[in-house]
Amino acid sequence: MKFNELGLSQKVLSAVEALGYQQPTPIQAQAIPPALQGRDILGIAQTGTGKTAAFTLPMLCRLEQGRARARMPRTLILEPTRELAAQVEESFAKYGANHKLNVALLIGGVAFGDQEAKIMRGADVLIATPGRLLDFFDRGKLLLTGIEILVIDEADRMLDMGFIPDIERVCKLVPFTRQTLFFSATMPPEITRLTEAFLHNPVRVEVARASSTASTIRQAMVASHGHAEKRDTLRNLIRSADNFKNAIIFCNRKRDVAILHRSLEKHGFSAGALHGDMDQMARMASLDAFKNGDVSLLVCSDVAARGLDIPDVSHVFNFDVPTHSEDYVHRIGRTGRAGRSGVAITLVTPEDKKYVDQIESLIGKEVEWEGPRLSELPPPLETSRAHDRRGGEQRGSRRGERSGRGRSPAAAPSAEREATASAAPRPPRRTPEAEPVRAARPQAYGERRDRRPRNHEDDGPPVIGMGDHIPSFLLRPVVFKTAKASEE
Ligand code: AMP
Repeated sequence: MKFNELGLSQKVLSAVEALGYQQPTPIQAQAIPPALQGRDILGIAQTGTGKTAAFTLPMLCRLEQGRARARMPRTLILEPTRELAAQVEESFAKYGANHKLNVALLIGGVAFGDQEAKIMRGADVLIATPGRLLDFFDRGKLLLTGIEILVIDEADRMLDMGFIPDIERVCKLVPFTRQTLFFSATMPPEITRLTEAFLHNPVRVEVARASSTASTIRQAMVASHGHAEKRDTLRNLIRSADNFKNAIIFCNRKRDVAILHRSLEKHGFSAGALHGDMDQMARMASLDAFKNGDVSLLVCSDVAARGLDIPDVSHVFNFDVPTHSEDYVHRIGRTGRAGRSGVAITLVTPEDKKYVDQIESLIGKEVEWEGPRLSELPPPLETSRAHDRRGGEQRGSRRGERSGRGRSPAAAPSAEREATASAAPRPPRRTPEAEPVRAARPQAYGERRDRRPRNHEDDGPPVIGMGDHIPSFLLRPVVFKTAKASEE
């Protein structure tokens, strides 16, 4: 199937051609023709399948006729997160390059004034997160009675984030006669119920769920003990990586994203962070810095990274083994795109064995080990901490020097670690690795300093014992005040 067989307008076709797209993806080929006929669409597809174009291209064709009126947008796209909303806005700029459309973005964390001005001017396309949209509506600054097309994107994620009541409300506020394009990666019962209530005789388009990994990705596992050792191993892996351009590093928990990010920066790497507790400006800044190449490492959680289109990543590191095997497929799918080669390396501790088994059973093959397998892993050394206590290793430049090139990072503990392996163990408090958690350095990227995660969106498996997770209140010097002192 070719793009010019789908029924798209000439303006849209030339924009697609200018982008170099050769042929429609399966979701585009199946969804675009019925969408152009005005049918409702139920698209079961996830990010990376080309679903944004599947709803954007027919919308552009529809918008070629008619004009928007003040405060009455013509089409509405609901996205669960601000990043996704901003990403869809970028897609409109790309695909709508030959159209003169007013696109308004209505997301939290951005000043009301500019958004209001755009809506007052008359928006052809309104891209919004549910909270900010309803906020505007309730203030009387927006009318939803002119909506011709409603897009609900990433519906299952809306469910995870508690937005379903908001979505139901929006569906009742837009005209009954609008066209609805509804996308979800999965169809839990609450989502099925929603589609039954609000879609009219939809065309169901399904794209297979990801369970296979691209052959262009070289996958490997590296056995390691605990978080401190993993940080050391990760640094060695980055330094010794071949054809390294940039890397996304996944952690299971928000808290560990922040810790690892600071640790990498402390060791001289150019790194950004992306997790759910960062404010909007900081998240956008991190993402842009990574996309522009200002930083070459992006440490993130699954939830913060889900759905984001970050092209051209040479390496993915799973600092933690994902506890849901499908997340493994999504994570490593961020490299090796469009036929390019990529590398995905997962750091594995003995506690992760069952998750590794689940991953291998999902992808239907064994992943090779670099260095010893879990079963051959020598007992833990009092390594990185002892080493780090002594002032750390040499600071690298941007990505770090390529010391240790060619050796297996897990099999051969770094020379520094061997040199310090016999260092007498000390109490774990005040390790420099832990230090940034409580250091009096300004908070990077608006991170919160919570001791415990506020919600459990990306809480990983429970930590057995304290391991590296020494609560920072234990790290704080305890000052016992005498009654006299406290009176002073
Ligand atoms: P999406 O699933 O919408 O996030 O799209 C994932 C990526 O695929 C984006 O970078 C798009 O630019 C790209 N893309 C979408 N459709 C096509 C196509 N037909 N051919 C090549 N790339 C595409």
